[in-house]
Amino acid sequence: MYRIASKLGIKGAIANTPGGAEIIIEGQTTAIEKFLCNWKQHLPEGARVASVNKLRIKPRGLKRFAINTTQQGASTTDIPADLPVCPQCLKELRSPKDRRYRYPFINCTNCGPRYTIVKGLPYDRPKTTMALFAMCRACAKEYYSPSDRRFHAEPNACPKCGPNLTLRDKTWKTLARKDNALSATLDYLHDGKIVAIKSLGGYQLACDAFNANAIACLRMRKLRMHKPFAIMLPNVASAKEFCIISPGEQKLLSSPERPIVLLRKKICVARRALPLYDLAPDNAYIGVMLPYTPLHTLLFQQHSSGAWAPNALVMTSGNRTDEPICRTEGEARERLAGIADVLLTHNRPIHNRADDSVVQITPLSNKTVIIRRSRGMVPQPVKLSIPLNTPPIFAAGAELKNTFCLTRANNAYPSVYIGDLDNSEAMAFYQESFSLNKKFLDVKPAIIAHDIHPDYQSTVFASGLLAKNSRLKAVPVQHHHAHIASVMAEHRLVPPLTGIAFDGTGLGFDNTVWGGECFTVDKAGEFIRRAHLGYFALPGGDVASKEIWRVAVSLLTQSGIRKMPAHLKIFPARKILKMIKREINSPKCCSVGRLFDAVAAIINLRTECTFEAQAAMELEALAVDTPTKKGYTFALQGGEIPVEPVIRAVYKDFCSGVPAFEISARFHLTLSRIIVALAKRFNNKAIALSGGVFQNRVLLSLAEQQLLQAGFKVYYNNIVPINDGGISLGQAYIAATNENRKSRIEK
Ligand code: ZN
Ligand code: ZN
Ligand code: FE
Repeated sequence: MYRIASKLGIKGAIANTPGGAEIIIEGQTTAIEKFLCNWKQHLPEGARVASVNKLRIKPRGLKRFAINTTQQGASTTDIPADLPVCPQCLKELRSPKDRRYRYPFINCTNCGPRYTIVKGLPYDRPKTTMALFAMCRACAKEYYSPSDRRFHAEPNACPKCGPNLTLRDKTWKTLARKDNALSATLDYLHDGKIVAIKSLGGYQLACDAFNANAIACLRMRKLRMHKPFAIMLPNVASAKEFCIISPGEQKLLSSPERPIVLLRKKICVARRALPLYDLAPDNAYIGVMLPYTPLHTLLFQQHSSGAWAPNALVMTSGNRTDEPICRTEGEARERLAGIADVLLTHNRPIHNRADDSVVQITPLSNKTVIIRRSRGMVPQPVKLSIPLNTPPIFAAGAELKNTFCLTRANNAYPSVYIGDLDNSEAMAFYQESFSLNKKFLDVKPAIIAHDIHPDYQSTVFASGLLAKNSRLKAVPVQHHHAHIASVMAEHRLVPPLTGIAFDGTGLGFDNTVWGGECFTVDKAGEFIRRAHLGYFALPGGDVASKEIWRVAVSLLTQSGIRKMPAHLKIFPARKILKMIKREINSPKCCSVGRLFDAVAAIINLRTECTFEAQAAMELEALAVDTPTKKGYTFALQGGEIPVEPVIRAVYKDFCSGVPAFEISARFHLTLSRIIVALAKRFNNKAIALSGGVFQNRVLLSLAEQQLLQAGFKVYYNNIVPINDGGISLGQAYIAATNENRKSRIEK
């Protein structure tokens, strides 16, 4: 603002106030007009304007444009999200004459760490982890000159005064420092070694993505045999070499959020073949991201002429399976020493953990679907259409892929990706983040929303809060209500509408496992369960989502098929059937996720999974390039869609030798037709889709296409994850609307 005002000869002042940034401008009418249409175009990358209020005041005869100190109470101004290194800084990074040549911590007001280094508010250097470093004269000069690009760039630093790199071995012995640490790292990567790298929001594990041995070694050490690894590529051009990229995906790859984008793998990769199969086995997509820190950029650059630089790096979360990513040196030393050969660390502490975000684009409508919302996106609020005086809400979230959510006025703040709460480290991270976010946002929640599942760790945590304070209000929310409500919150939908939640698992009101649900939401916001997938037994409960042959046996038998296919005969089917008959640990379920598992096991695609949704991903990969017109017959009987006819048809196709890709395509088409049939059954134009199953792009596209053709308006999550990472926003929204509905009635 100072720079624009100075250029136009405008006087005035700017300050951070409790209501946001307050700008006073005074000058010639034409200059003022210019200012008003200019300022938005000159915003730093990543800046977002929530709202603008203009007010005419009497001229004060100001002499200059002042940058005033932050006003008391302004601490509630939002924390910015982390930003990728900007083009101007990149230019300096690469220019040998610049004092920050090859400096891995270069940044300016347009780029650099934000959320991950903030310890408190207001966002000023003393309240960040950069407080450790006193600026040298040259840096301080930049920091205090309003005309400089680094004016109030809080993490401003240079090689003289700022943080620096250290390369360590597993015993924490120093191997190299500063630029030598970088060149040594490249040597290790070249030799097929695994390097733990301290990044923006935590540690990452890297190895050469062209080295199949290194990848195999990383899989062994991480105990992660099949789950896909993301890769980092130097630029869009190299991403195009290995993947099919739409304009929307290209934009997303280089967006300020710099997420991991799930891209279609090219089947035949010319000449420089990347072991795409090893990276994401039996998967149609691969996660790709571009360098977002100066350190990442330097990793792709030769350190001297003739030296080696990687063309692609595996870049995966620096954690042990199911744990949160390592944040501190202590954590890295303890947990990554068994995985990495060397560790590239630095002395700029990370205060807030933030894993890489993961997104994809639906091919049909070019909309963003979020798989994991974290670094670069958090702590952006989601604006809700609720009154400003709604009491602050804490929504505890789900059990898997957990995020929680806090609200302040009409803003909802979903947390970073926490992970699966059955892991004790993840639960510790949850509690720590809850305290931190409460402090940042300066809120004391009055309403506690949580899942109706009593055994979710998030529910247990919420119950603990409620037990400690009797004035807190509890709002239990059903899992799939929350899924649909998250779409309503994002798109500010006004009911009536129809919500379809296709999901893995969620506890239903009848104590069964839900996951194939169709609700209507009436004008008053009341959810009514109108229809669902037919029930089937889940022998072994949660075990059945790993040993998916159990679901196949259960569903085949329920569908009247006595003769198990040969590949299922090796399993103790009789024991399983006895379990079901005697109702021993065999909950009833109507989950579409489990139906995917059953189909995969029946057609012998796989009978066991090593990670969540593995079978569904493989089925999707088969259907991705298989257009089919043939779907299986199904019927909507009362409030149920029996699964038996679909299972019998899949079995029949399999026995008569229909190829797996065709069966998969028919199955996908069937599910999409079920969605359309459900939509048509009820009298609502607006259809909300949510739940983990909709991460399946083939299914989502088929459903969206047919729903649009039939004249429906289709909504799904684009701001929070479409999987259980979006549950907390839905819980918060239901709690908020309940509250307001009640206060209306009371009035
Ligand atoms: Zn910059
Ligand atoms: Zn300096
Ligand atoms: Fe779910």
